[in-house]
Amino acid sequence: LTELFSKLVEKIRDVEYIDEATLQEIAREIQRTLLKADVPLDLVKTFTDNAVKRIREEKPPAGIPPREYLIYVLYEELVKLMGGEQPAEFKPTKKPYIVLLLGVEGSGKTTTSAKLARYLMKRGYKVGMVETDTIRPAAFDQLRQLAEKIGAPFYGERDGKDAVEIARRGVANLKGVDVLIIDTAGRHRNEEALLQEVKAIYDAVNPDEVVLVVDATVGKLAAAQAEAFMKYLPIHTVIITKMDSTARGGGALAAVAKTGARVKFIGVGEDVEELEPFNPRKFVARLLGMGDLDALLEKIKAVFEEEEVLEEIESGRLDLLTFKKQIDSLMKLGPLSKVFQLLPGGLAAKISEEQIELSQKNLKKWRAILSSMTMEELKNPDILNASRIRRIALGAGVTPKDVKEMLTVYENLKKMSKTLKRQMRLRMAR
Ligand code: GDP
Ligand code: MG
Repeated sequence: LTELFSKLVEKIRDVEYIDEATLQEIAREIQRTLLKADVPLDLVKTFTDNAVKRIREEKPPAGIPPREYLIYVLYEELVKLMGGEQPAEFKPTKKPYIVLLLGVEGSGKTTTSAKLARYLMKRGYKVGMVETDTIRPAAFDQLRQLAEKIGAPFYGERDGKDAVEIARRGVANLKGVDVLIIDTAGRHRNEEALLQEVKAIYDAVNPDEVVLVVDATVGKLAAAQAEAFMKYLPIHTVIITKMDSTARGGGALAAVAKTGARVKFIGVGEDVEELEPFNPRKFVARLLGMGDLDALLEKIKAVFEEEEVLEEIESGRLDLLTFKKQIDSLMKLGPLSKVFQLLPGGLAAKISEEQIELSQKNLKKWRAILSSMTMEELKNPDILNASRIRRIALGAGVTPKDVKEMLTVYENLKKMSKTLKRQMRLRMAR
């Protein structure tokens, strides 16, 4: 999936500007990508419709090229598709906190039981494990060995017949633990018998959290699996395993998110350490190529900050603190010539190329100067006398003349902002 998306992102980066035809082409490309990744068709439709609508209706913030805004919109909509903003937490709220693991055979339940136990043990919880799979005799040994390996108390019955009774006895035997993980069978005489059994275990032990384990390689069929179990008992949490071995993981994630179940972890390998908390934002960022995206998000944030600063200037509240904020966001934004294009017309025209060049060089110096000032000085520049200026210059490693120069620029900007305010009032009066 990552590969599919990085190709798509590359393509979008080449786009010069976005007209309706380009937008349609990109939308088709996104659809193809998502379908290839096995995301269910209805979700693909909703996703592209939302993204296209936003791109058509929302104006990119000033200074952000449309194609970068497009990637940003894509990112936000993908996060929604993968289950939303908040990474889900796993928090045992009572003792013992009973966790019941379900899923079809081979989905990775037994491995995941041990992974989850390991994850919680590393966070200081005492964790016990119970094996109730009576269908596959090897399951008992599998979990017992894993329990031994990670040093967790274990309960199981090698030739047990009654899964429900084993579960009950497991709970009774491992009373002292903080968290008790109960592993179940994934196969039975038939599906109905399996679902009846897990339901009976559920009724017998009254678990605090029911976890469905789904194999990522089933792709969009993940939804059908979740729905089948949900008919019999509530599913609180989903763990998607084998994310390391398929490009269809995104499909499984999206499909599960659709059912309303929260994906809390993903399995990324066979080892007991290879379990990761699922964070939609991080996951999508990785999908789209994290490095690039980080810079882009940073930039969009800076533009929004810049707009805030402009509002402050326009409202006449220009003190050195605002000036400092502006310099901070200017430094994040990159080439100043571009930034000055953001300024309202009247103001931008007053700034010459040389001034821009000069400002660019001065930004770093100014930030150092402003960082050496106290909050009081930033808020009331009027108190800056010769001795304060000497102290500030010393702290910033510049000369007092540099400090005075910056203060002149600040004074000019303040005057300009008053002119600007008058202009705005005039414009409004017209
Ligand atoms: P169960 O039948 O649901 O209990 O499944 P198991 O826990 O026995 O796992 C079935 C197979 O999947 C085993 O070979 C595991 O090593 C493998 N497996 C489980 N989780 C992962 C994972 O996240 N990544 C990979 N690559 N393999 C996994
Ligand atoms: Mg098993």
